[in-house]
Amino acid sequence: MVVTMMNNMTIATAYDVVVIGGGAAGLSGALTLARSRRSVLVIDSGEPRNAPAAGVHGFLTRDGMNPKALLEVGRAEVRGYGGYIVDGRVTSASRDGDSFTVSLADGRVVSARRLLVTTGLIDELPEVSGLRERWGRDVLHCPYCHGWEVRDQAVGVLGTGPRAVHQALLFRQLTSDLVLFTHTAPQLSEEQAEQLAAREIRVFTGIVDSLEIVDDVLTGVRLRDGTLVARQALAVMPRSVARSGAMASTCSRSLRRGRSPSSSRAVTPSRTGDLSRRSCRSCTSPASAG
Ligand SMILES: Cc1cc2nc3c(=O)[nH]c(=O)nc-3n(C[C@H](O)[C@H](O)[C@H](O)COP(=O)(O)OP(=O)(O)OC[C@H]3O[C@@H](n4cnc5c(N)ncnc54)[C@H](O)[C@@H]3O)c2cc1C
Repeated sequence: MVVTMMNNMTIATAYDVVVIGGGAAGLSGALTLARSRRSVLVIDSGEPRNAPAAGVHGFLTRDGMNPKALLEVGRAEVRGYGGYIVDGRVTSASRDGDSFTVSLADGRVVSARRLLVTTGLIDELPEVSGLRERWGRDVLHCPYCHGWEVRDQAVGVLGTGPRAVHQALLFRQLTSDLVLFTHTAPQLSEEQAEQLAAREIRVFTGIVDSLEIVDDVLTGVRLRDGTLVARQALAVMPRSVARSGAMASTCSRSLRRGRSPSSSRAVTPSRTGDLSRRSCRSCTSPASAG
């Protein structure tokens, strides 16, 4: 077996499986593969989706754990079964006969019989001044991940699409002080307006201009007409897109040729992290938030 130095570790250059992306999904896959005595290399660029959050919630036995700490435990578990993990960014993955050639930004190249692409999602946030800086802190998206943390607070929901009312109704379970900023969401139907009124969710029409921040804390939401609505948290619904980055073209071009379940092909996890087999074309199609 050919070995080389990478990040001060001696590792092989050929693996049964190279896992591209070492977040929760990639590490889970790597753990199962390593336990099945597959040689596994996880390559991770260290930008998990939930990095801005202080804690992971709703994950039984690890509720509230820092996201980075969770991944450290995951890495240790994978290494415990002989899996390798390196920090680095994959820039291309291409088919090479029966295997795949994977290139890293630092110039290293490894080969694999199979790929597991678990590069996660990117959250495209609404363009509102001050919003991006608060993402994962007091600008939130998921009532199940962070709702408890803002319970009974003054919460706003920023409407940007047809699911704004749905999101508002979900957050209403967590606080009675809730407003919906319709912003760029479609006009409310009569039925939706009735639903919001029945749950005492106030509605502010008009475009949101900016977030008011005082001492590094969200204090309000300012509308373009100058109205300031005091808020402690704002729920948004980002557009989540697959993070295929520089690999997108190589990925779809060279991996799409899979012939049968037993032929060399990319394996991508479902959004819940299980190892269902899908075409790598799913790398480039939008995924839903969660
Ligand atoms: C702010 C926020 C808070 C959240 N809180 C919760 C919560 O409390 N509970 C919960 O269940 N879920 C939560 N989620 C959802 C959770 O973050 C995701 O479900 C989870 O991170 C998905 O794991 P993943 O491994 O698919 O992707 P990620 O965690 O995003 O990991 C993907 C990894 O792949 C790496 N990568 C990408 N491209 C490359 C490349 N070319 N080469 C090498 N590596 C690459 C990235 O650097 C990253 O480390 C939250 C999401 C957000 C945005």
